Amino acid sequence: MPQHDDGRAPASAPSATSESRLRTANRSQVLELLARSAPVSRADLAQQTGLSRSTVSSIVQELLGSGEIVETTAGALPRGGGRPPSLLTVNGSPGTRVGVDIGHRHVRVAIADLAGARLADREIRLDADNSAVETIDRAAALVRECLAEAGIDPKTDRILGVGMGIPGPVDPHGGIVVSPILANWMDLAPGDELARRLGVPVRVENDANLGALAEFAQGAAREVDDVIYVKASSGIGAGLILAGKLYRGVTGIAGEIGHVRFEDNGPICRCGNRGCLEKAFGGARLVELLQPAYEETLSVERMLELAQEGDIRVNRILDDAGRAVGRVLADLCNHLNPALIVVGDTMRHSESFVLGIKDSIDRFTQPDTAAALDVVPSELGDDAGVTGALVIADATAPD
Ligand SMILES: [Zn+2]
Repeated sequence: MPQHDDGRAPASAPSATSESRLRTANRSQVLELLARSAPVSRADLAQQTGLSRSTVSSIVQELLGSGEIVETTAGALPRGGGRPPSLLTVNGSPGTRVGVDIGHRHVRVAIADLAGARLADREIRLDADNSAVETIDRAAALVRECLAEAGIDPKTDRILGVGMGIPGPVDPHGGIVVSPILANWMDLAPGDELARRLGVPVRVENDANLGALAEFAQGAAREVDDVIYVKASSGIGAGLILAGKLYRGVTGIAGEIGHVRFEDNGPICRCGNRGCLEKAFGGARLVELLQPAYEETLSVERMLELAQEGDIRVNRILDDAGRAVGRVLADLCNHLNPALIVVGDTMRHSESFVLGIKDSIDRFTQPDTAAALDVVPSELGDDAGVTGALVIADATAPD
């Protein structure tokens, strides 16, 4: 996000969302500077951030109001015998953020300071589909281990909040899992469950949405306001950033492209429909299709290694899968007219898959839609989920 000397968005008729995005970026910049430095004056803040005094003043008022920063005269030098100027500093210890990324086969936890530096980062393997309660118990234990590794005592040190991603849709109003896509988590509020175990607020979000937010904040979609993030591995999902804001839909299920009807008489899917795209071309299905041709036991990861070794059978099926996913995405692009598709999770490693998506986009979208659209692999890669969780972790950050 480029900063402007006057602390305002560019002159070319900024939208409300780009204004709010700029304000969020400016706010983070001010907070991070305060967290990293000795107490500073408003004037020094303006000078060091390059923002205007009025922008700094308005952000400072907001941060004082929320209690994130305080005024102090300690360390201030009096001016000409008068009162020393009031300096600003963060309230208590600068604070850390906790990101929890729950996938179908793993739980990963990262602890980051205000400036985004990772203080701890650990992952365990487990099947989250089996038991929601056990997964949340293990996630809470891993958070405690990571906090200990980072030298943070949750009783005395400041934890700004916890962000958590789960591999299924979450109702944005109650934080409840409302879809049989994650059957064993149905009717549970995973954020509340983890918050109860940790004693700190937890914000929960669908994992593809977190990938979208992460790429939007720090990855391939920086400075792009209309983005589809495709999370493709054993399953297929997507997160939508529209006009600079995450779009969840009424019940949080927006972007579930893996559960779009692809074959009229296809097999029954975990979501309750039949013939879903994921059933026909998700990584798990591709492995099933390839397995009879191989003596070794395949997995999605092994399939992608074979693709990189130039295995022609694997690359042929990944090309088919890319085209199929691209076919569904092409219709979505005709409706939404995005600027960028970011292909994330393990399938980003397959050039055939990404090129297959591009081919279908070019073939099935309106020519001007395709011309305005890029398809690129994720920049954050395996880090996207936990990065997105850290982005939403600060409970005081704007939605
Ligand atoms: Zn389905």
